[in-house]
This record gives sequence, C-alpha cells and structure tokens, in this order.
Amino acid sequence: MPIYVYKAKEDGCDSCKDGFEVFQTMSEKELTKCPQCGQPIKKVPANFGGGEPSMSNSKLRDLGFTKLVKRGDGSYENVTKQN
Ligand SMILES: [Zn+2]
Repeated sequence: MPIYVYKAKEDGCDSCKDGFEVFQTMSEKELTKCPQCGQPIKKVPANFGGGEPSMSNSKLRDLGFTKLVKRGDGSYENVTKQN
C-alpha cells in the first residue's frame, strides 16, 4: 500500500505540525484535513529519508514524525504515539 506524507499548512497538532505518514489505497482520496485536529494539511513528497520504503515507527518518532494507520472503522490510529 502506498504511503503518503502530510504536513500541516500552518499550525497543527502534535501529529501534523511536523508531518505524518498515512497508508492509503490508490482509490482513497487525498486528505485535506488532519484526521486528528482538522487543520488543513498538504501532501509532501514521501521520499524523505533517502528513499527508504518506510522507516520504523520508532525512527519516525525520533525524527518528530507521526504515523497514522487507518483502522477498519475509518478512524486513524497514531502508531508512533508514546505511551
Ligand atoms: Zn493535526
């Protein structure tokens, strides 16, 4: 499944202000709002990190990124959230 990276256009929440990854199918629409705070977001090139297919959740977290994974019920889970 392709990974898309989104970032808040202006101020956002902890998830989107530094960017977050989302797994989406090709048929899904591009997100325009952060699923967590509703702020406007934009898609950014997903090839940061030197073209790695995907970084580990802990690596993403270290870099200040958030990864959201869509669950079956349509909500998004923040898998990089620290407990
Ligand atoms: Zn947000």
